[in-house]
Amino acid sequence: MRAVVAVAVVSVSAVVVACSSVARAEDPNGSPATTKKAETREAMAARVIKEGLGSGRAHAMLTELCTKVGHRLSGSKGAENAVAWAKKTMEDMGLENVRLEPIMVPHWVRGPVEEAVVTGSGLPAAGHPLKVCALGGSIKTPEDGITAEVLEVHSFDELRKAGDKARGKIIFFNRPFDKTLFDGFRMYGGAVEQRANGAMEAEKAGGVAALVRSMTARRDDVPHTGAMYYRDSAAKRVPSAAVSTIGAEWLSAALKENPNLKLRLKLSCETLADVPSANVVGEVVGSERPNEVVVIGGHLDSWDKGQGAHDDGSGCVHCLEAVRLITELKLRPKRTIRAVMFMNEENGLRGGEGYAAASRPGEKTIAAIESDAGGFMPRGFGVGGGPAVYKAVAKWAPLFTSIDADRFKEGGGGGDIGPLGAKGVPLFGLAVHSQRYFDFHHSDNDVIDGVHERELELGGIAMALMSYLIADNGLPGR
Ligand SMILES: [Zn+2]
Repeated sequence: MRAVVAVAVVSVSAVVVACSSVARAEDPNGSPATTKKAETREAMAARVIKEGLGSGRAHAMLTELCTKVGHRLSGSKGAENAVAWAKKTMEDMGLENVRLEPIMVPHWVRGPVEEAVVTGSGLPAAGHPLKVCALGGSIKTPEDGITAEVLEVHSFDELRKAGDKARGKIIFFNRPFDKTLFDGFRMYGGAVEQRANGAMEAEKAGGVAALVRSMTARRDDVPHTGAMYYRDSAAKRVPSAAVSTIGAEWLSAALKENPNLKLRLKLSCETLADVPSANVVGEVVGSERPNEVVVIGGHLDSWDKGQGAHDDGSGCVHCLEAVRLITELKLRPKRTIRAVMFMNEENGLRGGEGYAAASRPGEKTIAAIESDAGGFMPRGFGVGGGPAVYKAVAKWAPLFTSIDADRFKEGGGGGDIGPLGAKGVPLFGLAVHSQRYFDFHHSDNDVIDGVHERELELGGIAMALMSYLIADNGLPGR
């Protein structure tokens, strides 16, 4: 035990030493006032790191959200419970001005039936079931399903070129993640149009449904849901489902053996009337300029799969832990830090849009930081707002070195804070290791067991440091 404590002390002093040299670099004259302030910053960082890694609070909060609330798609009972949970959690940690900001949200429900089975008799594949789930926003199939031949394609271009061959078919979009790319989000970005727009393209080509390979590089039998879109209310609509990667590979092989095999797809999902809901807001009020605000946020809603542990329970907890650390350690920045648990990022963005559209007289938003990439090891931040902001923020990077989160890159943002960016607010995003996120994303895999306690804590620490530094120091031009 003692040896462990000794190591901890050494590493904290290493932080102080590393950061002191930076403080001198910032202030070539080394004036006593500046040196004192810089030392305070380093001491602040050391205290935040120690409390964040020692308290176990971040993981306890996420465990509670995942196990007591569970998944929480907009409009659901789970989402309503999540709003109550977030408000109480903020109140219990002593945040100021805790409140709900009401919005209306879409209400799509999955329903009990999700099924894709090879039909016919006598074929080796007859009766083979595939693991599928409806994509968010899809219409249902007729009660006895849609039974049709399947056309496999890997791009919208290939579908267009298929011409009449697509008519009356279930269009099977089977382009996998490009595993030659390093970044998980780039792999996702290269494939996700199939999920988002597959139903539209299938319908335009004369198809009767869309079946989309799950958005993951992992080979398993778990389908991943996510948002899909229709052209407009006047256009014809076809149902759309995701199939597991194992199911997609099985189907592709079966189609090579028998191109005429038929699938029966049954879905019972539907869109109901909009429902009242809310963003949940709490603050650490600034000591000198309370009307200048740094927004930090994640999204409280999740898909109706798993527990939304990484997406975006972890992002919410990163923000809650950040303001908890700042409150607990009695750090009071000059400007206000406002934690916002946004509702409805996944299938509507009504929370982010509603927050940005609300009138807040006399108030100025200095910056907005989002965490929505999972509870993995933090690496740094994407920093928006232009070169001057980046230059100012990059000077703080050494304060993040001891937790290995000092990689700052120009350009940042997040879904929920996007509408604030459109109003000129500099946007920041917490960057985390991206290799494993899409193993979990939007699926039954996304449960608390997949989130590592210390990695989650480190993300909360990084958010605390960045939000405090911006709130206390301001940003150039803001
Ligand atoms: Zn998310």
